[in-house]
Amino acid sequence: MRSTRKLAAFAALGLTLAACSSEAGNQAEEEAASAPTVAEEVDFPEGSTMAELAGAGSITVGTKYDQPGFGLLNPDGVPEGFDVEIAKIIAGELGIAPEDIEWTETVSANREPFIQNGQVDMVVATYTINDTRKQVVDFAGPYYIAGQDIMVAAGNPEGIQGPDDLAGKTVCSVEGSTPAQNIRDNYPEANLVTYDVYSKCADDLANGNVQAVTTDNVILTGLVAGNPEGFELVGNPFTEEPYGIGMAKGDDEFRDFINDVLEESFEDGRWADAWDRTAGAITGEEAPEPPTVDRY
Ligand code: GLU
Repeated sequence: MRSTRKLAAFAALGLTLAACSSEAGNQAEEEAASAPTVAEEVDFPEGSTMAELAGAGSITVGTKYDQPGFGLLNPDGVPEGFDVEIAKIIAGELGIAPEDIEWTETVSANREPFIQNGQVDMVVATYTINDTRKQVVDFAGPYYIAGQDIMVAAGNPEGIQGPDDLAGKTVCSVEGSTPAQNIRDNYPEANLVTYDVYSKCADDLANGNVQAVTTDNVILTGLVAGNPEGFELVGNPFTEEPYGIGMAKGDDEFRDFINDVLEESFEDGRWADAWDRTAGAITGEEAPEPPTVDRY
């Protein structure tokens, strides 16, 4: 299995090198870089989730549909973003092409149940790895580390600099998310309003119904990019949110496989390329150093 995947990586490298030496080098190189590698021949242990998915030729992936830069449904009804690209890299190593991925919207609160019921094979959805969630699902990764932050109206009329300033203010977040739980547990003076998705919080902030929105900095950055006249990011992250790939608890073989794929994508540039074309294109920030995978 490893050797087949290595071959695919070498083949892709060969294409890129060949493209560099040709006249239309730059364009071909860009195309080669943005097309996810789809392994042509795969060989997985019989009975493994990998063999099952590769045999079926499709995988069901839960992701967000309203978070620019990470998972946002495009006008064709297909999600786009960094999480979506991470899922494509993993699917590709199973021999599954992007068009054979079945996307399902997972909102913050239904990720664990969707995994537990088998409605999705994996969840790539700004999904923080934590011990509470690990009681019912498992996580590969992390593949990115975000941090909880606050978004306010442009000009920051309330002068909110951090979570302590939310006391007596109305702040919006999403049910089933770690940022909402953090406000409930540690900032009880804040008046917390929750919805099922973050775009509704952004609408409430735009309408003046709430004074702040709190969740991960990268999600808020995407929302600010969508309404730069209306919103601004406080820019003072106060938690660590390591993003993992959620999957059925106890499937260690599948978890090892995903962790191997993530590490390879960190090394061969596919991860950074995915960042540059999605979240990085919105923020203008270069891909950070990839995190260390936690093989717990
Ligand atoms: N990363 C946090 C979480 O998993 C917030 C983002 C989200 O709700 O998806 O709860």
